[in-house]
Amino acid sequence: MDTHMEDVCKIVNQMEIQLRTNLLLKDGQIQEKKLWENTYIKHQIDRRNSKDLFSIRDHIRGMVYAMLSSGIAWERVEDSIDVSTGKIKVIDEAFHQYDPDVLLTCSPEELSDRVKHLHCASQSTKKQMSGLIHTNIKKLKQIEKVYGSIDTYYQEFIDKDCSYKTLIRTLSDSNSKDKMVEMGEALNAEYLRNVGYDMAKPDRHTRRILGSRILACSDYETVPLFETLDIAKEIADKLKKPVAEVDYILWSYCSKGYGEVCTVINPKCNICVARQICKNSIQS
Ligand code: SF4
Repeated sequence: MDTHMEDVCKIVNQMEIQLRTNLLLKDGQIQEKKLWENTYIKHQIDRRNSKDLFSIRDHIRGMVYAMLSSGIAWERVEDSIDVSTGKIKVIDEAFHQYDPDVLLTCSPEELSDRVKHLHCASQSTKKQMSGLIHTNIKKLKQIEKVYGSIDTYYQEFIDKDCSYKTLIRTLSDSNSKDKMVEMGEALNAEYLRNVGYDMAKPDRHTRRILGSRILACSDYETVPLFETLDIAKEIADKLKKPVAEVDYILWSYCSKGYGEVCTVINPKCNICVARQICKNSIQS
């Protein structure tokens, strides 16, 4: 690892400390639900490390959370997050606790209306619900039937490529028989992370802060998706943290309602722990 990446690793540690001691406070109290250890992701990674079995319901929940998070600010459902599991109760209820057979009797419009009612809908919701009901759940059921579990099938790809990229491509490529509808590479990475596979969610915030104009971990201003996975892994290995935790720290540092330091408009460079190495700060 070069010295610049070593500096970035130190900065990520400092970001975490600042988030915990300062940025995630509300009325002087830490916002428990926003701490890494209370997130749904962390619970799923722990489950996978304990060799827990993931059911088709877990997979559908992971896919639904990924689909919905792409269009909404998580704050809208914050009150409904169960701090002991990280699950979002109102969404779980709206989706019939992810029972595949019950969901297959629902119409996409019905699910879409439920999502709208929770103020979690985006322009893509209707298409996503259609993809979920008409294709994706059926594919997951078929995989489970043939292989015994969805993870058994996914493991075949992970055994060949432990970076998860082959599995992500398999679920994303339009020419693949395993293509999940309305799920591109970023959403599939998020879905897989939501079922405990330890990887980054290549979000616009993470791709921007790691990019050439800020932390300069890449030659690109917006880091390409798969390169983001590699950079987050490199930092995580050095810090001996889960990759998803490193990703969560970087994302929280940028996101509205979380750290809100490295925002696109009006970044708070004066309080930022990265300002000594940040390209944007040096230039401004
Ligand atoms: S110094 Fe400013 S632009 Fe750079 S990482 Fe910090 S907040 Fe973002």
